[in-house]
Amino acid sequence: MTERTTCVIAGGGPAGMVLGLLLARAGVDVTVLEKHADFLRDFRGDTVHPSTMDLLDELGLGEKFAALPQSTLTEIAFPVGTDDQVTIGDLRRLRVRHPYIAITPQWDLLTLLAQSAEAEPTFTLRMRTEVTGLLREAGRISGVRYRTEDGDTGEIRADLTVACDGRHSTVRRESGLRPREFPVPIDAWWFRLPRDPGDETSTLTPRMHNRRFAIVIPREGYYQIAYIAKKGEDPALRAGVDGRRQASRHPAEPPAPLAPRRSAVPRRRRARDVPARRSRNQSRGAGRRGSGDVAGRATAARRCRHADAGAGARQTVAAHRRRPAVAASAAPAGGRAGRRSGPSTRRTSRAGDAVR
Ligand SMILES: Cc1cc2nc3c(=O)[nH]c(=O)nc-3n(C[C@H](O)[C@H](O)[C@H](O)COP(=O)(O)OP(=O)(O)OC[C@H]3O[C@@H](n4cnc5c(N)ncnc54)[C@H](O)[C@@H]3O)c2cc1C
Repeated sequence: MTERTTCVIAGGGPAGMVLGLLLARAGVDVTVLEKHADFLRDFRGDTVHPSTMDLLDELGLGEKFAALPQSTLTEIAFPVGTDDQVTIGDLRRLRVRHPYIAITPQWDLLTLLAQSAEAEPTFTLRMRTEVTGLLREAGRISGVRYRTEDGDTGEIRADLTVACDGRHSTVRRESGLRPREFPVPIDAWWFRLPRDPGDETSTLTPRMHNRRFAIVIPREGYYQIAYIAKKGEDPALRAGVDGRRQASRHPAEPPAPLAPRRSAVPRRRRARDVPARRSRNQSRGAGRRGSGDVAGRATAARRCRHADAGAGARQTVAAHRRRPAVAASAAPAGGRAGRRSGPSTRRTSRAGDAVR
């Protein structure tokens, strides 16, 4: 069956949905094809930046966006020693309408865009519909071939075909475009940990020690952790997580207690105080080897415990999210997130454990 529209867009991510909305508002017949049944992708595009919020204002969606569940980041601070931190970026000083980063799940933003676009009579969104190839006529691309989740196939002819189908784009490949690729030496391991309701939520806290690096992002009800691993470490990390899960299902002995709680976000300090305090903290840290030390804690077993803790956090988060949480996911930096679901353990851990 061949259908017809003016513009067909492959992919209902942020690019496809915003383009579809803009074209529909301009009165253009537009069809967006999205291969997934929903927008539920964890951790993707969750930090929404000031310029993006300006764009949402311009689209008349600012108020609706502000009403979505979200937390706001106003500072970036590096920890110093075990209990202190130095603020290196204060977004509140920016002279912009929204001097903060809003953290909101991408699926909520995409749902908002989809609902706004669907209010336009010329907009069509077809979920569960994957673009499988391109149509060509007289040497030009004239539409797409698609397959639905039920296995039905069809064609849509269009004056304009747009590739918004992400970094493994079928449309790009089929049209013969070749991306330039650059080697990336790291992977980002994303997972979540529980946080106390009283923990501070306005600060993005990178953690680094002994050439290990992680970022702690406070979210509604949990911490989102990006652990930066060397390229090639992923199989060992996964093996550690799997081994730990196995052990928690069939415990030969009671699991070792977790390190005592320390706040993921240390108390606030000012930059000018650092040198004196830093030396004091160094010696304090040396006396407590392992308790404030990323490297000391970066064994596979330790990481595995943290990933299990992420599974525990799932129970917290599930209460106000429509999908189960990700226990651990590895993604090439800036790239694809592999998803894994984990066991429902009740283990609790702290962000401070994960990254120190
Ligand atoms: C782990 C991770 C974390 C990130 N965190 C942030 C962040 O905090 N803040 C931020 O601003 N950015 C973040 N990004 C980047 C951000 O997610 C991307 O820049 C953004 O999603 C790109 O939008 P897009 O619409 O071009 O592509 P995508 O978001 O990749 O959307 C492509 C869409 O096309 C669909 N699709 C793919 N193939 C087909 C097909 N053949 N037919 C039909 N549909 C198809 C996919 O299902 C998807 O919905 C993150 C990315 C990753 C991977």
